[in-house]
Amino acid sequence: MSHTKLSVEAIKDGTVIDHIPAGQGLAILRQFKLLDYGSAVTVGFNLPSKNHGSKDIIKITGVQLDDEAANRLALFAPTATVNVIADFSVVKKKHLTLPEKISEVFRCPNRNCASHGEPVTSLFYVRQNDGQTKLKCHYCEKTYVREAVAEA
Ligand SMILES: [Zn+2]
Repeated sequence: MSHTKLSVEAIKDGTVIDHIPAGQGLAILRQFKLLDYGSAVTVGFNLPSKNHGSKDIIKITGVQLDDEAANRLALFAPTATVNVIADFSVVKKKHLTLPEKISEVFRCPNRNCASHGEPVTSLFYVRQNDGQTKLKCHYCEKTYVREAVAEA
């Protein structure tokens, strides 16, 4: 048995997204439409974390994130861990890897970018540089640090 202190209610089956940087939990709930599944979602904000000061945690009953969703998650919370829960135990930890490109999720900060005027979906190429996640816009070819790019 794990002696990990449970700050929020344990779930029987589903997904626990742990080690989300504090403050990112709400963006993840919204971006991944986690409330739309109709499942019970338990969220903890600003919980004490041994390694990172404080963290957010999200538990979703009866839902498993697919690999694509897990990789998109890496753009919001690269240090997060995705635990698959079955019968109150962690049966799998998903390893997050950044996707090579991402569409729809973010909006290009360049106001003159062609992605704004036309009915096109945004598209960014993702790369890791000096420990920072960077997004290069497909349309205007400008590169931004992830934090500078707002959600669409
Ligand atoms: Zn652009």
